[in-house]
Amino acid sequence: MALGIYDTVLDTVGDTPLIRLHRVGGPERARVLVKLESVNPGGSIKDRIGLALIRAAEADGRLKPGGTIVEATAGNTGIALAQAAAVLGYRSIFVVPAKMSQDKIRLLKAYGAAVEVVPDVGRDDPRHYHRVARQLAESIPGAAYMGQFEAAANPEAHYATTGPEIWAATRGDIAMVVAGAGTGGTITGIGRYLKEQNPAVEVVGADPEGSIFTGPPVHPFQIEGMGEDYIPETLDQAAVDRWVKVTDAEAFRMARALAREEGLMVGGSSGAIVKVALDEARRVTREGYVVAICPDTGRNYLSNIFAEEGDTEGPRWS
Ligand code: PMP
Repeated sequence: MALGIYDTVLDTVGDTPLIRLHRVGGPERARVLVKLESVNPGGSIKDRIGLALIRAAEADGRLKPGGTIVEATAGNTGIALAQAAAVLGYRSIFVVPAKMSQDKIRLLKAYGAAVEVVPDVGRDDPRHYHRVARQLAESIPGAAYMGQFEAAANPEAHYATTGPEIWAATRGDIAMVVAGAGTGGTITGIGRYLKEQNPAVEVVGADPEGSIFTGPPVHPFQIEGMGEDYIPETLDQAAVDRWVKVTDAEAFRMARALAREEGLMVGGSSGAIVKVALDEARRVTREGYVVAICPDTGRNYLSNIFAEEGDTEGPRWS
């Protein structure tokens, strides 16, 4: 195929850029690089696992032509799967928690997916989104549950792509990587890969206040996509050196600052991760870059994070 021409949109996933910061934070920003996953065609890092989850289900015979993809998702995995389902000719149904933004629900529907919204309840409640999705998959003939919280294909996709991209782009000049964890697939895959290249690379997890990785106490929080109330199978704690707590307010303030001061339109989890990356960059002694993995686009949050009043700080020059 000619250079610059792709067979399908799925062939454009990955190879995302590392971008320097110029205004947010203090002088420590000089060593921070943002890995901008919003440039994936579905707008998030989850594009990397969408096709991988589908291929794994096809390979073990659970998903056949004409079948239906079912998943529990806080949005981005759904968008990635819906995008891949459209290309590959599958139907898709997603079960989402009520706190998920309307923007993301509309996106799923725009890709042709069906969406079921369930209340924000704990895992022991039968209305929990994971449980509802699993049940749906069992009750619909030809349906397959993707299981991003259990599937080895999830961390493997990051081990195979995200990790090597960071190592190659920094030429190994990396002191630390900061990521969030929902399924833990990102931090596990990247962490394993980078530590194999150089065990001295520090792997730091940014975690919303209220999430289990820095809890207890575990309680609800507003940041979407990262933080959990249980330890998922797809997270390998051995790949993570430390977890750092971050509040909803800190995360959303940073997300808004990244848009206004850096032109980086990213979501609340990205805000949380960059906040932690800047704090860590101030005290890390090893030479090398601090890479912040920014999982998704701020366009997912126009109706919540970017519609909020009360953060009236202008850009630095105003
Ligand atoms: N941020 C956002 C916005 C996400 O959608 C996700 C995926 N749930 C994450 C962070 C965390 O990624 P992972 O599931 O690979 O831990």
